[in-house]
Amino acid sequence: MKDPRLLQGIGVSPGTAIGPAYIVPWGLPDVPHRVVSKKDVPGEIERLQAAIAAIKERLEELRDHAAERAGHSESKIFDAQILMLEDTEFIGGVQRLIKENQLSAERAFEFKVLELRALWAQSESQMLRQRRADLSGIGIRVLQRLMGQSIEDVLGPRGGAPAILFTRELTPGLTVEFSREHVAGFASAEGTSTSHAAILAHSLGIPCVMGLVQGLESVRPHGMVILDGTVGTILTDPTPEEIAEAELEAERRRQLDRELASVAAQPAVTVDGVKVSLRSNVDLPEEVGPALENGAEGVGLLRTEFLVVGRTELPSEDEQAEYFSDIARRFEGAPVVIRTYDLGGDKFPAAFRPPREANPFLGWRAIRVCLDEPEIFRTQARAILRARLHGNVQLMLPLITQVEELERARELVAESAEALQREGIEAAPDVPIGVMVETPAAAMLADELAQGSDFLSVGSNDLTQYTLAVDRGNARLADRFTPLHPAVVRLLKRIVDAGGRAGLDVSMCGEMAADPRAALLLVGLGYRALSVSPLRLPLARWLVRQFDHTVAESIAAEVLEMATTREVVDRLTAGVAGLVDVDLLPAGLVARG
Ligand code: PEP
Ligand code: MG
Repeated sequence: MKDPRLLQGIGVSPGTAIGPAYIVPWGLPDVPHRVVSKKDVPGEIERLQAAIAAIKERLEELRDHAAERAGHSESKIFDAQILMLEDTEFIGGVQRLIKENQLSAERAFEFKVLELRALWAQSESQMLRQRRADLSGIGIRVLQRLMGQSIEDVLGPRGGAPAILFTRELTPGLTVEFSREHVAGFASAEGTSTSHAAILAHSLGIPCVMGLVQGLESVRPHGMVILDGTVGTILTDPTPEEIAEAELEAERRRQLDRELASVAAQPAVTVDGVKVSLRSNVDLPEEVGPALENGAEGVGLLRTEFLVVGRTELPSEDEQAEYFSDIARRFEGAPVVIRTYDLGGDKFPAAFRPPREANPFLGWRAIRVCLDEPEIFRTQARAILRARLHGNVQLMLPLITQVEELERARELVAESAEALQREGIEAAPDVPIGVMVETPAAAMLADELAQGSDFLSVGSNDLTQYTLAVDRGNARLADRFTPLHPAVVRLLKRIVDAGGRAGLDVSMCGEMAADPRAALLLVGLGYRALSVSPLRLPLARWLVRQFDHTVAESIAAEVLEMATTREVVDRLTAGVAGLVDVDLLPAGLVARG
């Protein structure tokens, strides 16, 4: 039976923390409904502007503080919040509510924050969800200020023995509000590994668990807890034996970390000499630094949606060209695979009014949007062609289901290159174009798609979702969502073979590449390029160096004959046993059966 003291979340910053729980009431304050008389409207607007100016100043201080403690790129997280406070549509909306509805400044600001939060909450996009915490961060601070509360009133004394901070939503500011001596770990109900606060906690080296959807209320103020940021658990009221056991396990993990660090500068080559290229997925600009530090041999997937979510307008060609060029330069000739917008669901700029859809995952998203709205695609294609002057930039098309989509996208890229030349704008004459194979349709047409592509890259997250008809984000179906289902495994084989016949680079950029059992399978199936999130690179490198590729091949051949997920998982588990202690790995890395 499950231990009711054990809460399961997502480990977003590794390590073990043992200490008393400190519950921080960090949330939007209760704002009384208050209307003001017409003559008081200008005064309310002034109060709003003064509060915004003060909070911007405070965020700038926190940014400098984060730069000292966590690094320059991480500190930019605060720029995202400052930008929100400068967003004319957002702030203009608050001012309109004050003027037209005669609401008090705090009521109007709260209204706008809640409206945006509700909109973003429905999003399937992890990126938009992570920006909700940024929005809450500014919402909390501005409202506190308008209501005359000080941060000291809310947080209480910030001293004492290192505690584990529990909060509903960990905002970037709260992460750096406490100094290192007073905080041993962070735990929050909301958030995922790409939340800005998670990135900051990781850079600060503070263990953190997010996504604690259930049981947070059972945490007693000041009661002892063990937080495990590697597997994503919280144990409340531990016994002295459990504390001793946790300390021991923490030591075993540190040992594994030391082993991983010892090969950090070595190439990812199997014991029998097969080279596997290890690349990084990059979702947010702050991840470029950690990707480089962990030795990424390029970017296997640059998700460009962060440029869009939470904004009112699509970014300009110049802004995109600058962002892509900067990354291209930093990777010095290694491939940087830029995926064109995977817009869909709520992943649209606020000014863009997409149709409401009953099934957004099966709806107007990704390449379908780009081809129906070619201006959106052309802008990205032009930015990518310009950035190619600065490095090995490549263009990747998401959610392809038809050969015609690839052909049309190619035409648009060629037209964009001609237009740039005509306009005398410096840009590369062409760019390698690859297909993201993430639908069963694309897997079945892999040979034909390979004919018109310069590379293939597999998105196992969507490929699994569409093959198994299991929503990737539905927690109730989490046990059914596995890329180690035999049907997915056979498609993976089909894709890598098709790419091989066409002589193309075939990479895996879905989450499965980070799972040791899946990595063994992928190497055995013939994948020679894996792209994982920056923090997963050390483990991936260490693992590849443990594999023997002929053994991996024979395991993969056995697995291809299997009919059930259980058999596949058992065989691969046996395959990695002895190489790595799977109990020490982060939850979510170990494939379910
Ligand atoms: C995938 O589908 O596996 C993938 C890498 O793309 P995303 O997770 O962004 O949909
Ligand atoms: Mg996908």
